[in-house]
Amino acid sequence: MNIGSRISTGIDFDRDGKQVGYLNLPHSSDISAHGNICIPIAVIRNGDGPTALFEGGNHGDEYEGQVGLLKLIRSLQPDQIRGRVIILPSANFPAVEAGTRNSPIDGGNLNRSFPGDPNGGPTDMIAHYVDALIGEADIFVDLHSGGRTLRFLPYVMTRLTPRTPQAANMAALHAFGAPVAVVAGPEREERYAWSSAERRGIPCLTGEFGGSGQLSIEGLRIVERGVHNVLVHMGILRANAIPAPPTRVLASRGRTFSPDNGMFEPHFDVGDTVEAGALGGLVHFFDDPLREPRPVHIVHSGTIISMHHSGLTRRGDALFWVAGAA
Ligand code: CA
Repeated sequence: MNIGSRISTGIDFDRDGKQVGYLNLPHSSDISAHGNICIPIAVIRNGDGPTALFEGGNHGDEYEGQVGLLKLIRSLQPDQIRGRVIILPSANFPAVEAGTRNSPIDGGNLNRSFPGDPNGGPTDMIAHYVDALIGEADIFVDLHSGGRTLRFLPYVMTRLTPRTPQAANMAALHAFGAPVAVVAGPEREERYAWSSAERRGIPCLTGEFGGSGQLSIEGLRIVERGVHNVLVHMGILRANAIPAPPTRVLASRGRTFSPDNGMFEPHFDVGDTVEAGALGGLVHFFDDPLREPRPVHIVHSGTIISMHHSGLTRRGDALFWVAGAA
């Protein structure tokens, strides 16, 4: 595989067996003039067959995908599979190390950096490399959560657009076996990791499995089952799928943004059902006690799938994200 990157690795992507090592991204810094950022990667291969690519740690402060993939790296053995599994558990490693969404080195948001740039900063270089790996995959699974500023109802997600393999995406979505799934359409934002899969016409799942800067036990369980079931679905893992309840499929309806700066008192929680126009909460003005709080009216009817996590809010924060029956 010729990726055309300064990132090097001792991993041979075409070799049978289990290899666990690093992508070495040269980074000349004040504390390490000739140093590398070492990004963990695992390649498990057994003969010809499909390739599944799993990514966690696209955002550093999202944990269910990272921990689920670390567990997969340790447990999965070549004789259990046919084909190839490529696992990047902590893709934006500097952000993972810092416990932040974006890279502390260059401020880069990996999930707004695709298709990347081999001559850019570390985050762009990582995006460029992952974009090339996506091009080698028969399915790409990018595991997210809400990080420190959002919390989510755990769900698996895919996107149906004229350029995506819609039937394959929906089949993988149902195979994953999450209690809730969200189906999204085209977006103006084209710099996501999944945008790379879309451009290349490669089946792709993503998902949000928790948030608030914590590791959700329920979210991790859904991730572990989903990763297993996708590998079975793709004909890579020779095992039975783990039984799951039927998936409730929702479509995104839209977000409600904060109208002001202050302290947010929510009147609902993730998973609640709301009607458009409902009083979603109040923004309180801590610097002006006699001022009446400002109401926040929810814009869309449906199920709340994501909420702003911090008690503080600023105008323009996404306070609620609502989805409804697909
Ligand atoms: Ca994320």
